[in-house]
Amino acid sequence: MVNRMIANILPHFPERFVWIFSKKYIAGKELKEAIRCIEDLHRENIVSTVDVLGESVNSLEEVNYYLAQYLETIQILSEYNFGLSISVKPTMFGLLEDYDYCQNSLRKILMLAREKNLFVRIDMEDSSCTDSELRLFEQLYKEFPGHVGIVLQAYLRRTLADLDRLKKVEIKGHPINIRLCKGIYVESRKIAFKGRQEIRNNFISCFEKMLEYKFYPALATHDKKLICSCLDLIAKYELKPDEYEFQMLLGVTKRLRKKLTQKNHRMRVYVPFGVQWFRYATRRLQENPHMVWDIITGMVVPK
Ligand SMILES: Cc1cc2nc3c(=O)[nH]c(=O)nc-3n(C[C@H](O)[C@H](O)[C@H](O)COP(=O)(O)OP(=O)(O)OC[C@H]3O[C@@H](n4cnc5c(N)ncnc54)[C@H](O)[C@@H]3O)c2cc1C
Repeated sequence: MVNRMIANILPHFPERFVWIFSKKYIAGKELKEAIRCIEDLHRENIVSTVDVLGESVNSLEEVNYYLAQYLETIQILSEYNFGLSISVKPTMFGLLEDYDYCQNSLRKILMLAREKNLFVRIDMEDSSCTDSELRLFEQLYKEFPGHVGIVLQAYLRRTLADLDRLKKVEIKGHPINIRLCKGIYVESRKIAFKGRQEIRNNFISCFEKMLEYKFYPALATHDKKLICSCLDLIAKYELKPDEYEFQMLLGVTKRLRKKLTQKNHRMRVYVPFGVQWFRYATRRLQENPHMVWDIITGMVVPK
């Protein structure tokens, strides 16, 4: 209740004030700030996935604006040989308004990314996008195998079945690369698990299925208990360090992140940047007010 109230009033505060809450989680407004952040992470033996911040669009001009931003980002980042990847949100390219235009825009991103040897991850958004984002991935994966990955959300009841579906389209020699996360959006009980432990259980079932299918798993979580269960599976299946990775958000659970990298687990951090940081930060808080508490405790207790 208090979290929801704080999340709802934050957008009415001056940007400078909201920045105090957000700066830990966002690299900055400009690419040069993201690059500084990527270099710092690289020194800690951590790779990055870079996200240009943006929201659902209302016009083709906005889609083209974001497309230009991504192309410039890829062009510049390709000069850094840091094993970087790029994360994209299809609604920024008009997924729900014009699927074909969105697909074409992502195709342009992927063509440049392939030329520059960068990997592109399609983020997963709320459940109104799940079918289209999976379809988008399947079509682009056929054209750019080895250069594009998708995200699946363990809180969705359908995710194990989605893994079966993806196995059917897999191209030999190009393991499907999936970021597995719990899921950030508020979904109904009908389609999503709600209990903390049942989401963890489904995460582990999905991870095990990914191992069975020999997909490449990117385990995106800060949940210590869940990470311990993942480590058990990594040991059980005797995975080599280049056969999986952990992923975390910028500024979150840094100590846990350090522990994992020190034990030689590959770690990738999500580095968001862009002028749209304010709308992004306040909207994410409204979507998931529990984050308010995480942020407040994160400010007080270093992790
Ligand atoms: C690299 C990456 C990419 C992601 N991509 C997507 C995506 O495409 N689609 C999607 O739906 N979701 C995405 N998520 C979000 C994810 O679904 C979860 O909502 C988020 O990671 C929190 O879940 P958790 O597993 O860390 O566990 P939790 O139990 O929620 O968190 C464990 C602990 O981590 C800390 N923590 C977690 N999140 C935050 C935060 N935001 N701020 C401060 N502290 C925090 C807190 O200490 C918390 O107690 C992504 C997450 C990561 C790490």
